[in-house]
Amino acid sequence: MAKEAPVNCIFCKIIKGEIPCQKIYENGTTFAFLDISPINKGHTLVVPKHHCEDIMSAPEKELQDLIVVTKKLSVLIMEAVSADGINIGINNKPAAGQVVMHTHAHIIPRFSNDGLKHWPKIDISNEEMVLIQQKIVSLL
Ligand code: 5GP
Ligand code: ZN
Repeated sequence: MAKEAPVNCIFCKIIKGEIPCQKIYENGTTFAFLDISPINKGHTLVVPKHHCEDIMSAPEKELQDLIVVTKKLSVLIMEAVSADGINIGINNKPAAGQVVMHTHAHIIPRFSNDGLKHWPKIDISNEEMVLIQQKIVSLL
C-alpha cells in the first residue's frame, strides 16, 4: 500500500496549485515546472503527480511516464533556450543531494561555455571493481 503524501510536501502543493510555479506541462500522471533556483536557464523539474519519495519507491508505470515526459520536454527546452546539451538527473536520498523528498527529474540545459564542471572521478582497483560487480549481480 502506498504511503500517504506528507501534508507539507512542497511539490504536492505545487501540483495541487496551492503554491505558484512556472508550469510547463502536465498530463494524467506527470507535472513539470521551472526550478525556482535554476542551474541554467530553462532548468525544469519533472515530477510524478502521485507522491513518492524517490525512484526506488516509485511505481514503474509512473517512472515510465516520467521519462517519456522528460524526453519530450528536453527536446522543447533545448530549442527554447538554444541549449547545446541537456543533463538529466534524479537525486535519490539526502546523501545524493535530494532535498525535496518527492521524486523529480532535473532537466538542466547546458551550454558549451557554461563553465559547469562534471563530477570528479575516484581511483579504484580492478579487483575492487570485480567485487562490486559480483555483489550487484548476486542481488539481481
Ligand atoms: P533536489 O536537490 O531535491 O534534487 O532538488 C530540489 C529542487 O527543487 C532544487 O533545485 C530547488 O531549487 C527546487 N525547488 C525547491 N523548492 C521549490 C519551489 O518551491 N518551487 C520550485 N519551482 N522549485 C523548487
Ligand atoms: Zn509530494
